[in-house]
Amino acid sequence: MRAVQEDLRNPFRIAQQQVRHAVDALGADERVYEILKAPQRTVEVQIPVRMDDGRLQVFTGYRCQHLRSIGPTKGGIRFHPQVTLDEVRALSMWMTFKTAVVGLPYGGAKGGVIVDPKQLSERELEALARGYIREIAPVIGPERDIPAPDVNTDARIMAWMMDEYERTRGGGAFPGVITGKPLVLGGSEGRAAATGQGLVYTVREAAARLGVPLAGARVVIQGFGNAGTFTGTLLEQMGARVVAVSDSRGGIFSPKGLKMADVIEHKRRTGSVVGFPETEAVTQQELLQLECEILVPAALENQITGEVARGIRARIVAEAANGPTTPDGDQVLAERGIFLIPDILANAGGVTVSYFEWVQNLSGLYWTEAEVLHRLEERMVAAFHRVTRTAEGRGLDMRTAAYVVAVQRITEALKARGLLD
Ligand code: GLU
Repeated sequence: MRAVQEDLRNPFRIAQQQVRHAVDALGADERVYEILKAPQRTVEVQIPVRMDDGRLQVFTGYRCQHLRSIGPTKGGIRFHPQVTLDEVRALSMWMTFKTAVVGLPYGGAKGGVIVDPKQLSERELEALARGYIREIAPVIGPERDIPAPDVNTDARIMAWMMDEYERTRGGGAFPGVITGKPLVLGGSEGRAAATGQGLVYTVREAAARLGVPLAGARVVIQGFGNAGTFTGTLLEQMGARVVAVSDSRGGIFSPKGLKMADVIEHKRRTGSVVGFPETEAVTQQELLQLECEILVPAALENQITGEVARGIRARIVAEAANGPTTPDGDQVLAERGIFLIPDILANAGGVTVSYFEWVQNLSGLYWTEAEVLHRLEERMVAAFHRVTRTAEGRGLDMRTAAYVVAVQRITEALKARGLLD
């Protein structure tokens, strides 16, 4: 029973199953599944770091490059104690489908290091970031594979990584090797908020479609990192009411609504949203089942299982996290008629602005925030409608429809290269 359970929650198996469904729904060539079922290249590295107390600690990291047939590969780097090779494999696959849904000229990739960054000093963190990049430097580059931030990594870490990459190349400027950089080093306007911003565009379209007014809509957010904080702030600006949020330490609930700026400040000061004044403490499970219009899982994988999904009381589930819903969770959401904006569509704003950043780096011409937002909105809205049309036209759930859109595009590229006839 245990082994079966674990297999059902294994993100790599889940990603393979999602591709299987899309290939079957499309009646696509079986070779498409054979090509897409695993990353083209996987690199495992050991990173020795001299800790502040003089001890040597060796960390394990991965970089998976899923598909090279559309363009360079692209995807973030995650620092987390629960990183596994199968998780990084799955995340690299999801990046391929994500970039294809929004039509970016990339395949997917992902990196991960097994570490709890909260236990490291700033110096140790920098040494780890630089060590990781030295190890994967031979397989990355602006025309090869372009990393970015993901869980527990940010602009400051991207800056160290770019700097280290340039050293491995004997100098020279390679801003296009990594995205999510600080503005001063060739980052893009709008990149920090991009995942939340993109998600909010899709939520706005979904709400209009379902006739749910955003003004006064109740929002629940699981996870209060980059995607969660920006999503909450932007939805609040649009008149919605964020009634509950959580982070890895626990959740808080207030039916009156939480002021996002104050919660962010509380977390900055104390390290967590927990203990925010005049709120009720809730567990992760209770939070996911609160009554609301918009539920945003913005933490890690496998949060919305079949059992959790049966208790969800939301109209729209918008996945800011990658892989937050298990296949049985998907089935229950579909049966219950809850509108799902799947991860590969909902959170594609981050990589879309990463693409804009890379384009700006390669051209040397930098855009205003208004230009970035305009182009992001255009792409997110177009992708949202393409997926909903596909779902309706083919009678599919939203996740399978998003995969179908992606697999169609990938199949075309494989054919054009002569890999399929
Ligand atoms: N880590 C983000 C994601 O999962 C962004 C990746 C990128 O910008 O390349 O989509």
